Amino acid sequence: MALSELDIIERYFTRKSGHDPALILGIGDDAALLRIPEAMELAVSLDTLVVGVHFPVETQPADIGYKALAVNLSDMAAMGAEPRWATLALTLPEANANWLENFSKGFFELADRYRVQLIGGDTSRGPLSISVQIHGLVQAGTALLRSGARPGDLIYVTGELGDAGLALLLVQKKIGLPAEQTARLMMRLNRPEPRVEHGLALRGIASAAIDLSDGLAADLGHILEASKLGATLRLQDLPLSSTLSTMLEQAGGWGLPLSAGDDYELCFTVPRTNQNKLSKVMEQFSCRCTCIGVIEDTPGLRCRLPNGELFEPASSGYRHFVR
Ligand code: ADP
Ligand code: MG
Repeated sequence: MALSELDIIERYFTRKSGHDPALILGIGDDAALLRIPEAMELAVSLDTLVVGVHFPVETQPADIGYKALAVNLSDMAAMGAEPRWATLALTLPEANANWLENFSKGFFELADRYRVQLIGGDTSRGPLSISVQIHGLVQAGTALLRSGARPGDLIYVTGELGDAGLALLLVQKKIGLPAEQTARLMMRLNRPEPRVEHGLALRGIASAAIDLSDGLAADLGHILEASKLGATLRLQDLPLSSTLSTMLEQAGGWGLPLSAGDDYELCFTVPRTNQNKLSKVMEQFSCRCTCIGVIEDTPGLRCRLPNGELFEPASSGYRHFVR
């Protein structure tokens, strides 16, 4: 039986909503209605995943559903906002029940974990593309911006860098690894863990923050531009998985953890006076949090090799319109 748009929305995307006094109306009318609590600001962000651009053609639908939401939760994390509601624009080449079932499973697995409700969207036919708009709440005046870094602030990243880029090399068959390591790396590419709790914990501690979607050099570059400052990174301090550190040369050297995208870790700056506060709040998390450099007055990003020499990354991250 052919699925109509309405069937798709009802079967795969409409669920009983949990108790949420801020949600007046969800899926089913011409628009959703939200009541924003006083003293809070609404953080809104949208990210699109296009097949062949943001994920390989062979990616499983459950992974696509998960990742479409994960990249948006990562933006909320980078703002220090609590994610609450999502809308979903789905463009599909065909209405395939099995694909939809698995896509929605992946999407709601993550949505449930962070208690995010799907409150609306749009469904149409065309080349596979998924847009999620996320809406979050943050106490007025406390959001983490890109523009707040100051000279002398220390630069930190969560987790480990470059594993998603390494996974992409696996998909492209440019490298090979044993099954166990391959499986772990594919999880890093397909199922990034958005650092939502980290972002919330960093309010009042970090001076600036961004999430790493396009690569460390490019994304830290956005903090530097917005803050009108520069920085020096110590490459030997970049947190790498044991897999990546043992095969760094084969995988393209320092360029990989500096320029490969899709890690969805947070990069943030912390005034030295807040360092103790930072260590205290980070104790509650199992994932690493590593100091990799320092913010400076001199504009530009300088990357220091272990021998003290400067390293020039060949590429500064993924660009859609520059070839
Ligand atoms: P309209 O013609 O007014 O745009 P639609 O038929 O597109 O209405 O959508 C009907 C309802 O279903 C709306 O509330 C819309 O937000 C919701 N909706 C449509 N597509 C999706 C989707 N993929 N996920 C969640 N909600 C959706
Ligand atoms: Mg519509």
